[in-house]
Amino acid sequence: MNDAPAADRPNAQEFEAYLDAIRRLVAEKLIPAEPSLDGQETLPEDLTSRLRDAGLFGISIPTRHGGLGLSMEQQVRVMFEVTRASSVYRARFSTTIGLGSQPILYNGTEAQRQEWLPRMASGEVTAAFCLTEPENGSDAGGLRTSARREGDHFILNGTKRYITNARQAQVFIVMARTDPNSRDAAGISAFIVPAGTPGLRCGPADTKMGQDGPATSEVYFDDVRVPAANLIGGREGGGFKTAMRGINHARLHVAVTCVGQAQRLIEEALAYALHRKQFGQPLAEFQLVQAMLADSRAETLAARSMVLETARAFDAAGEAQGPLVADIACCKLFASEMVSRVADRAVQIHGGAGYMRGTAVERLYRDVRLFRIFEGASQIQQLLIARDMIKGAARWV
Ligand SMILES: Cc1cc2nc3c(=O)[nH]c(=O)nc-3n(C[C@H](O)[C@H](O)[C@H](O)COP(=O)(O)OP(=O)(O)OC[C@H]3O[C@@H](n4cnc5c(N)ncnc54)[C@H](O)[C@@H]3O)c2cc1C
Repeated sequence: MNDAPAADRPNAQEFEAYLDAIRRLVAEKLIPAEPSLDGQETLPEDLTSRLRDAGLFGISIPTRHGGLGLSMEQQVRVMFEVTRASSVYRARFSTTIGLGSQPILYNGTEAQRQEWLPRMASGEVTAAFCLTEPENGSDAGGLRTSARREGDHFILNGTKRYITNARQAQVFIVMARTDPNSRDAAGISAFIVPAGTPGLRCGPADTKMGQDGPATSEVYFDDVRVPAANLIGGREGGGFKTAMRGINHARLHVAVTCVGQAQRLIEEALAYALHRKQFGQPLAEFQLVQAMLADSRAETLAARSMVLETARAFDAAGEAQGPLVADIACCKLFASEMVSRVADRAVQIHGGAGYMRGTAVERLYRDVRLFRIFEGASQIQQLLIARDMIKGAARWV
């Protein structure tokens, strides 16, 4: 359902002009404002408006639903640029472009698409994606939030944890168990729950290691009555597959983010190494420092190449994304581990300055640690990749 026909997408010239505008936004507004985000619980409205005005909430939504209708390759190229700035900016709209909109785009009814996608694309509506629970993180298929049918409504009860943008969201995509006798993913359904529905409440903002700006929080569902028309796709039991549409998109975008952040870390480390002198010469002249810079560049290029190739395969696959799940997991695994190494080297090159609050690499170091944990921790990606190899062993041996 990545259904923007090629003719609806910006042509090559229009796309390059758009990329240039994004580069200017990053250099002139987003990077300079980064220090002001320290300790913030929300991204200030003037910066959110800039993301909205740049169309970033709509990059993954087809033009017929009000978005820019970019191909995955184009989305990736835009996000390489955006994520040279703090990944906090990306977090403000990522839950809408991936986890929020893609389940509705691919698996929703036409009425659900018409109701929600145009407002998501414009950034009027922020979506939050509610899968993780206090007792179920990696084992998301075992989630406990229940959705009990009562006539033409469902009644939702349960608690979700670490939900990004929950406190800003106008709509929640909620995974809940509709089959009380099931214990696995087969009994899960996905619901659209508007903010303000009685019984839906967010907890206080979590205090995090990094990613100051968009808050995460718990979300509580106490007898929340949701019309059956809000069941995504109108069918019970397909919720986990629906969630995977968003998660696949999000995992590839996390990999892109790791590349953008690594690029930025290299720029910061190189600039510092060129100007800081020890033993009478710039750090960049020392071969041991050069090795750290070179390894970081090589690994970033490797991740960038993986992501671009997988994005092209994603575009070619259209509806049939199933075979790409393991390749997307490879991108997420490699890129998130890679950016942690690059961040560690960037701090090392900065010496004591890299350990001090207020230095860009110190903030980036804390921010990128997240990418090995959420959207499926590295160990879960490894399991996914290996299971795919074992299932398709004939292809490998
Ligand atoms: C800042 C932030 C934002 C988030 N945003 C959202 C959001 O918007 N929506 C949402 O639904 N969730 C969100 N999450 C939740 C996130 O996806 C989970 O934290 C993640 O899936 C891991 O779950 P967990 O924290 O319960 O860790 P656990 O599942 O308890 O895992 C702990 C450790 O054990 C390892 N482990 C678990 N199972 C296995 C296994 N079978 N084999 C080997 N190792 C294993 C994991 O890899 C990890 O290292 C967010 C989390 C954070 C920190």
